[in-house]
Amino acid sequence: MSDTPPILALRDVTYRWPGAVPFGLGVANFALQPAETVLLLGESGSGKSTLLSLICGTVTAQAGSVSVQGTDFASLSAAGRDRFRAEHIGVIFQQFNLLPFGSVLDNILLPLRFAPDRRARVDDPNATAKRLIESLGLPSNLTTARAGTLSVGQQQRVAAARALIGQPPLIVADEPTSALDAATQATFLDLLFSQSRAHDTALLMVSHDARLASHFDRVVEMSDIAKIERAVA
Ligand code: ADP
Ligand code: MG
Repeated sequence: MSDTPPILALRDVTYRWPGAVPFGLGVANFALQPAETVLLLGESGSGKSTLLSLICGTVTAQAGSVSVQGTDFASLSAAGRDRFRAEHIGVIFQQFNLLPFGSVLDNILLPLRFAPDRRARVDDPNATAKRLIESLGLPSNLTTARAGTLSVGQQQRVAAARALIGQPPLIVADEPTSALDAATQATFLDLLFSQSRAHDTALLMVSHDARLASHFDRVVEMSDIAKIERAVA
């Protein structure tokens, strides 16, 4: 067990948004073990979404290393980072990032197109996508709807199904319950945690809502792991 690399490790990472934007983030040391569930709390503007972008490899650190399952994003090309993310990380972005003109089904199956190992874990992609959206409380016939026509709460659940399909070893979720009512939120969290338990999926979830803390193995405050640099305007 001690030889198992952390699923996620950040070491001496610094990131500054390019251009004139006076915001920089520094993370000396942050790691997640396989199957660990962590809630990341922090005030608005504290860099939570920036940190998740670093963890997903959608932005790259200017110094230090960000590794997922032992692979440092800096060792990959841009296309390699995209493939690596599709294979290893289920991402629920704060703005969902669905393809608005694609169907719900297209959106849910999208990561599998770039991730042969993840695809191989799904026997019947269409049936699995339907099952996932049903288990998130949406009608299965919604799969043919265009994602752009859905309500915000429905889009959030489609984004969740896209993150869950094919059991990636790490799920990263940026305030994924913000547009859900209490009942849907509970269903969604149940599904996330049951996947985590069944498949040893590590889960890093950002939220404003400290009441969610009891569901998680560990709660981390942004101010405890990150140093923020902000120029005074
Ligand atoms: P949080 O998710 O905790 O609210 P963010 O990571 O979204 O915080 O934002 C932290 C700061 O980073 C913002 O105040 C802004 O200055 C900067 N920032 C975030 N996203 C961008 C971006 N796409 N381009 C430039 N600056 C950004
Ligand atoms: Mg954010």
